[in-house]
Amino acid sequence: MSDPTPLIQAVTCDLAGKVRGKGFPADQLEKRLTRGVGWVPTNIQITCFDGIGDSPFGSIGDLLLRPDPEAEVKLSLPNGQSEHWMLGNIVTLEGEPWPLCMRQMLRDALARLERLTGCHLNAAFEHEFQLKGPSQDNAGFGRAAFEAKRPFLEALTGALKGAGIAPDSIMKEYGPNQYEVVITPDIGIRAADAAVILREVTRSVASACGEEATFVPIQDIASVGNGVHIHFSFVDGDGAFKTYDPQGPAGMSQITDAFAAGVLKYLPAIVALTAPSHISYQRLTPHRWSAAYNNLGHQDREASLRICPVTGDAPDKIAKQFNLEYRAADAAACPHLALAAIVHAGAQGIEDGFTSPAPTTDDLSELSADALASRGFERLPETLEAALERFGNDPTVAGWFPDGFVPLYRAHKAAEIDHVKDMTVEEACAAYAETY
Ligand code: GLU
Ligand code: MG
Repeated sequence: MSDPTPLIQAVTCDLAGKVRGKGFPADQLEKRLTRGVGWVPTNIQITCFDGIGDSPFGSIGDLLLRPDPEAEVKLSLPNGQSEHWMLGNIVTLEGEPWPLCMRQMLRDALARLERLTGCHLNAAFEHEFQLKGPSQDNAGFGRAAFEAKRPFLEALTGALKGAGIAPDSIMKEYGPNQYEVVITPDIGIRAADAAVILREVTRSVASACGEEATFVPIQDIASVGNGVHIHFSFVDGDGAFKTYDPQGPAGMSQITDAFAAGVLKYLPAIVALTAPSHISYQRLTPHRWSAAYNNLGHQDREASLRICPVTGDAPDKIAKQFNLEYRAADAAACPHLALAAIVHAGAQGIEDGFTSPAPTTDDLSELSADALASRGFERLPETLEAALERFGNDPTVAGWFPDGFVPLYRAHKAAEIDHVKDMTVEEACAAYAETY
């Protein structure tokens, strides 16, 4: 028998938030870094259920997926298997960025923010997921439930470190078999790359430990969902933190205040990108500690945008920690696209000189729609269809994305909705738990 040839996969996290790609013999790496592997425009319409949404490209066209050594993952798994893959950039045959490449869309959004503020975005995606199988009773934050999965949790922490991600903490979350990983923030597109890597590494390590991990937005509507909370702050070219101002509203600097205001204004239109599955809207309901209104909260886990706690009282120490958290996201979203939408919304707020409403302190679910509106708030869309309407009908939002992106996205999601339209909520949750 001849020896196996080591392979590397060039991969992309696509519109469906799925990671797809092509492999090549590892000894071709140098060539592939410039030439890439062949890629097809219509691949962008492959849904999370492997259907294909209407595609303007049909069978026509060729692209290249070029692996990026900055986003390389080499794993040695507990079962003895190994993995080697790299996230890549999708480019044209001439080597120009393909406008619909989601890493490129995020780069464009970050460049807009940098032009406006001179600041880089520093961000971290905090993930919740569940292990499938029987769960222990009363195990919310439970010590025993943590110990029961210690080998997996330690293997996962090591694998993340090996992939260049710095774990901050890992815990047994409140829900049945639910765990959470918190990682330290990264600058620019690396934050979104890290989110993709974290999900894939978690799934691979779980499977190597005989477990199955799902990042499904909600597995059981009688219980809590699996959120993705996107923490962000601003850092200038000299590495100084620009998010905090002790004199600013709720401690926010002018940049933060205007950015947050933009995110809140456009939240009902961008939630179609950040919480993009049919069942995401079962999670985005009041009293689930997710996000149901376009409100700012101070340390409030029901707010869509939360000003996070800091410790200590020295202003420079506070400035380093001060960050906001976008809670209306889940792991059905491509992290690059979700972050691009948030950054554009915030940049729009800065460009238009918006200021944020005061953080809410009451339970907005007790207010009528009129009372909410009089305070400048609204209930977020309650279905994916309603979210897509809001997204599709906002010319400002459409202007943030490449030509043709809005109809493309709507056609993609129409195919996904078609797949689940005759399912009960339970069946749909189960279908999404299989794919995410
Ligand atoms: N599971 C909640 C969510 O769906 C978040 C709970 C928390 O960590 O605050 O976002
Ligand atoms: Mg949590």
